[in-house]
Amino acid sequence: MVIAGAGLAGLTLARLIATHPELGKKRVLIIDRDDKNANDRTWCFWARDDENMPAVSTFTWNACKFYAPGFERRLDIAPYRYHMVRGCDFYAWSKQQIATNPNIIWLKASILNIDAEQGLVTTDSGDYTGEVVFNSALMKRKLIPQNPWFEQPFSLSEKPEAQGRGGAIQLLQHFKGWLVETEQPVFDPECVTFMDFRVDQNGATRFVYVLPFSPTRALVEYTLFSPELLKETDYDDALKNYLIQYLNINQYQIEETEFGIIPMTDAVFPAILEGRVINIGTAGGFVKGSSGYAFKRTQRKLQALVNDWGQQGAPNPALLASDPHFRFFDSVLLKVLQQKGDLGGEVFKRMFRDLPATTVFRFLDEDSTLVENLRVMATAPKGVFTLAAFKQMTRLSQL
Ligand SMILES: Cc1cc2nc3c(=O)[nH]c(=O)nc-3n(C[C@H](O)[C@H](O)[C@H](O)COP(=O)(O)OP(=O)(O)OC[C@H]3O[C@@H](n4cnc5c(N)ncnc54)[C@H](O)[C@@H]3O)c2cc1C
Repeated sequence: MVIAGAGLAGLTLARLIATHPELGKKRVLIIDRDDKNANDRTWCFWARDDENMPAVSTFTWNACKFYAPGFERRLDIAPYRYHMVRGCDFYAWSKQQIATNPNIIWLKASILNIDAEQGLVTTDSGDYTGEVVFNSALMKRKLIPQNPWFEQPFSLSEKPEAQGRGGAIQLLQHFKGWLVETEQPVFDPECVTFMDFRVDQNGATRFVYVLPFSPTRALVEYTLFSPELLKETDYDDALKNYLIQYLNINQYQIEETEFGIIPMTDAVFPAILEGRVINIGTAGGFVKGSSGYAFKRTQRKLQALVNDWGQQGAPNPALLASDPHFRFFDSVLLKVLQQKGDLGGEVFKRMFRDLPATTVFRFLDEDSTLVENLRVMATAPKGVFTLAAFKQMTRLSQL
């Protein structure tokens, strides 16, 4: 089989196969154009200790804070803890495990095309055929700009051809972060700022999160949910303002920067695109439409696939699909954000004000019960959500 793309999804799958007693006997070719050594992203997620997340080294916090204008709360997140995994650590750890299995071969090459019917992967270093091809490298649908500032103004929502089948909503979660070192001790290393909506919203959902590693060191990240990117300098200005206005920091060194774009969409992703290809990761719709989270979802979906495959003898892509009820909730929130961009802060504030944080986490993890879902929905601003729910019900039923 071929695993096309060795990022989060490709490496997760390769590691699970490599360490599986039966599947580990299969011959696997894993292809990526990159060596996967750089720290190209950091992943954050909440998890209970019994959730069997990768045993890669993480930074972990037991407490989170939430801020909105006129509202502040220290969230009681137990039994969850908040974790951060550096991309480079995850890649190194995964590759180490994969290297223990001689049946898995790594090819560094650019994938030019995948012929789904034949399972033929064309690269700049030759062609390779797989009985099954797991693809997380090539995207059928353009979900994010490839060269952000060369495509400005980039607006998916304004381009009808980018709206996708059935008028899917496509927003972007875009963010810039600075790893800062301060002279004075200003951070509380025990507590993450999970979301801080006190920053100007200006027609879009905007918040800052802070991951403190010591009293003088933290990753401060400015995040937006909107159809368009900002000018590069706007992210810097917002970060500078936040450090001064809310953290009272004037003297600091920027040690690293991170910029990222995650698609937020209710577009329908078929788990099997066609023929022998099974799409995984972002290409397979693993990113949660309304939050942009994908790390834990990727672990869970692929673990379920591999467990079942080991027992049944063939991979069942239906196990990768998301629950239609939660897809509907995502779609409604995206509709609200598309129409009233700056309502996001109010929506999250009401959830964390009116419900235990663990209920919100369970809802976002898609683990919540019907009663919990109703409790979450009861927190939403009624008029705009009812209208959006009606519109999205009509749209989704037509797909
Ligand atoms: C900066 C950033 C931060 C994020 N933070 C979080 C977070 O905190 N929590 C969370 O849950 N989610 C987060 N996400 C969202 C999501 O978890 C990641 O995008 C995740 O990496 C998606 O996994 P993937 O395997 O689909 O894609 P990737 O990890 O991007 O892997 C795709 C792989 O395909 C390879 N590739 C692409 N094209 C080709 C080609 N033509 N030929 C060969 N190889 C190719 C790439 O080199 C890459 O290795 C973040 C995303 C970004 C971009």
